[in-house]
Amino acid sequence: MIIIKSHHEIQLMREAAKVTAEILEMMNDIIKPGISTAEIDHIVEKEIRKHGMLPAFKGYGGFPASVCASVNETIVHGIPSDRRLEEGDIISIDTGTIYKGFYSDAARTYPVGEVSEEAKRLIRVTKESFFEGLKYCKVGYRLGDVSHAIQKHVETNGFAVVKDFVGHGIGSNMHEDPQIPNYGKAGRGPRLEAGMVLAIEPMVNVGTDKMRILDDEWTAVSLDGSLSAHYENTVVITEGEPEILTLGSK
Ligand code: MG
Repeated sequence: MIIIKSHHEIQLMREAAKVTAEILEMMNDIIKPGISTAEIDHIVEKEIRKHGMLPAFKGYGGFPASVCASVNETIVHGIPSDRRLEEGDIISIDTGTIYKGFYSDAARTYPVGEVSEEAKRLIRVTKESFFEGLKYCKVGYRLGDVSHAIQKHVETNGFAVVKDFVGHGIGSNMHEDPQIPNYGKAGRGPRLEAGMVLAIEPMVNVGTDKMRILDDEWTAVSLDGSLSAHYENTVVITEGEPEILTLGSK
C-alpha cells in the first residue's frame, strides 16, 4: 500500500531532508585523496546528530554505519573502513536522516581528484537519468513512466541499469511501497498521486548490469568490476511540479 503523506508529515521529511542535502553538499569539499571512508562516516554521523537527528542507516537491518560508502566498482552498501581514497577513484555516498520519526534518503557519486573521462560521463549520465525520471513525477503519470525514462537515458548512453536494487517509497519507514525499478515499461504500474514521497535512485554500471555481494554480506559490486554510480533524491509528488527534498541550495 502506498501511503499518502499529510502536509505535516511532508514538513518533517523536508526538515530531515535539508540536513541530508547539506551533508551531501559538504562532501564536495571533504572527499579528496587520502581521506578514509570511516573518516567520512564519522563526519556525517557527527553532523546528523549536531542537528538533533538520527542517522537513518546506522543499525538499519544491521548496517554498521551512517553512510554507505561505495568506491569504484561498488554499486551500493559499501561499509566504511580504513580504506583511503585515491586520486582517480569515484565514491558514492548514500545517507539519510530521521527527524521526529520521518526519513530522508539521498545519494551522490563524487570524483576523487582528477578522474577518467569515462568516470565523469558515468557520474553525469547517472544524475541526468534521475532528472529524466523526474519529468514523469507528476499526477497523471504512472510509476512505469518514471522507470522507463531512467532506463532509456542510461541505455541510450551505453551504460547498464542495475536491476537488483530499486528505489522506494519513504516516510515513517525508510523503505515503503512502491518499489521503484530503474527499468520498466511506460504506462504501467501505480498512478502517481499528490502526497506520495518517493526515493528515486538510479544505480548505473559502465559494463554488465549483473552484480555480486561480497563476504561481508553488504557490499554489492559490479560482476565485471566496472565502475558504478548512484544518484538519489527524496521526492514529493504534488499537484504541480515535483518537490525534490534533498537537493540542497547549490
Ligand atoms: Mg534509497
